[in-house]
Amino acid sequence: IASQLATDLAATVRSIPDYPKPGIIFRDITTLLGNPRAFRRAVDELVQPWAGSKIDKVAGIEARGFILGGAVAHQASAGFIPIRKKGKLPHATVRIAYSLEYGLDEMEMHEDAVTAGERVVLVDDLIATGGTAVAATKLLKQCGAEVVAAVFVIDLPDLGGADKLRALGTPVHTLMSFA
Ligand code: AMP
Repeated sequence: IASQLATDLAATVRSIPDYPKPGIIFRDITTLLGNPRAFRRAVDELVQPWAGSKIDKVAGIEARGFILGGAVAHQASAGFIPIRKKGKLPHATVRIAYSLEYGLDEMEMHEDAVTAGERVVLVDDLIATGGTAVAATKLLKQCGAEVVAAVFVIDLPDLGGADKLRALGTPVHTLMSFA
């Protein structure tokens, strides 16, 4: 992604200091989503790195990954898979525990959401420590998916999540970084 475009897109992200708690700067993408040009441009740029390869499905992580992932799936003529917090999906699921800053959480996916060998792209708004995206990738791989790429609007490189995901063999693409 060209640096001028990254700068223009980054200007549409709202930064909220000390939310949800002191010391955290929350990167709020609702302002990017509310800007018609920025939303389209962000979706185009999330698709671009893998646009040449055939993709079966896009997996989005609840909740902001649903908004972006739905648009990305439509653009790529792919199916969409919701990866959700536990207890929300109605059919039989596969589940994985992952660590948050304090304690554990679990995410789920319908067990029949992917079939073995399907090529999947993972989408979320932001990668920080990578705990969420690594767990989602493991869930997809457990079901036989090939995770072709993981794409995020925002990278927080100081937290190392993108490097962690790459070390596990998943190509990672992000549109902008915040230190
Ligand atoms: P992590 O598992 O540490 O990579 O955290 C990524 C998940 O937490 C994503 O679903 C993000 O939406 C959310 N998240 C983490 N840090 C922030 C932040 N500073 N601003 C906005 N969302 C964040």
